[in-house]
Amino acid sequence: MSSILGIGLAVLVALSAGDAARAEGFSGLARLDPVRSEIVADGPGVGLRLTLSQGVPWRVFTLDGPPRMVLDFREVDWSGAGAADLVATGRVRGLRMGQIRPGWSRMVADLAAPYPLEEAGLTVDPETGTAALRLRLGRADAARFASAAGVPDSPGWAPAPRAGDTPPPPPRDADGPLRVMIDPGHGGIDPGAEEGGLTEKTLMLVLARELREALLRKGGYEVFLTRDADAFVSLEARVARAHEVVADVFVSLHADALSDARARGASVYTLSDTASDAASAALAERHDRADLLSGVDLSDSDDVVAGVLMDLARQETQPRAMALAGTLLEVFRAEDIPVLGRPMRHAGFSVLKAADIPSVLIETGFLSDARDRRNLNDPEWRAGLVAALVAGLESWRAADQARAGLVRQ
Ligand SMILES: [Zn+2]
Repeated sequence: MSSILGIGLAVLVALSAGDAARAEGFSGLARLDPVRSEIVADGPGVGLRLTLSQGVPWRVFTLDGPPRMVLDFREVDWSGAGAADLVATGRVRGLRMGQIRPGWSRMVADLAAPYPLEEAGLTVDPETGTAALRLRLGRADAARFASAAGVPDSPGWAPAPRAGDTPPPPPRDADGPLRVMIDPGHGGIDPGAEEGGLTEKTLMLVLARELREALLRKGGYEVFLTRDADAFVSLEARVARAHEVVADVFVSLHADALSDARARGASVYTLSDTASDAASAALAERHDRADLLSGVDLSDSDDVVAGVLMDLARQETQPRAMALAGTLLEVFRAEDIPVLGRPMRHAGFSVLKAADIPSVLIETGFLSDARDRRNLNDPEWRAGLVAALVAGLESWRAADQARAGLVRQ
């Protein structure tokens, strides 16, 4: 209990230091000094020392399943700091740092064992203004660790990104424009694939904006993006945003890396409880894992009743999603967009779980493949891909409306 009080107090101290810095007109952005920062074995647990160029508001908590430590800041520039430079103990298996949403930074450490928080404090050097953050994690059994884990309800901290962050949708008209939610994969602390100097999160945001442009120019579409910045949005929040704007269709854009060197070309995924093949299962798992790695608490997301209702809705939605996947691939082939062998696949992607919205996940290509990389980085090639996506949506929409007419009769 005393450790929790200690953390609360530390947060207050840090808040006032950050406010003072802002009041004096300094930037709210603190820089990490990697030379004077380290994560080491400390007694039976883990010790962490971070040196920042100034005090900023911060908080720390642990999450279970798998055990992780999450440090939130407002706001830290991580550039020049790599996990390899900081971690000097096998008790921390992985470390990620990055933006969690605009103005907020996060560090997530994967713990090799249940190490609960024991001490946390931030002190600001009155001479230099430099801030030193020290944390000590002890050792506990899994049950004690689990009971202490969870996202704290800290006053003054913005809640996790939620659907409420987007403006409410204009009222619907049955014959009105098709409402498309484009979902650029990954973002912020979760970069997605990184190959040959290209990053999936950046490329997919560029592509999403190009697709939005093209749909708006075509007319008859209302377009929303799950993220329009280099910000982390959890898979659950992406689905929630689609619901919030009452989207007619959800299109998730990706360009992952696969260890199989033969994987190249586009493919389209729809949701299923069972994966069509091992590679699809691995891809879905990797995307869900990206959420876990980014410090999202998934411990209480699914319940049985919701699951049954989702299944009912999916019986209506799933054939429509599969029709969209099929139509998109037809257009890709007609337009000479390279496609993967057996390009229509299915797996349990969390981001496709909007039960009442037809949803597809498009792997536009694989960043692990040199040709796909070249294509995706080429604005002219992307323009062809965008045109194919627009054509696919157009043709699916016409068929879908015709089908809906038949169902109504
Ligand atoms: Zn991806």
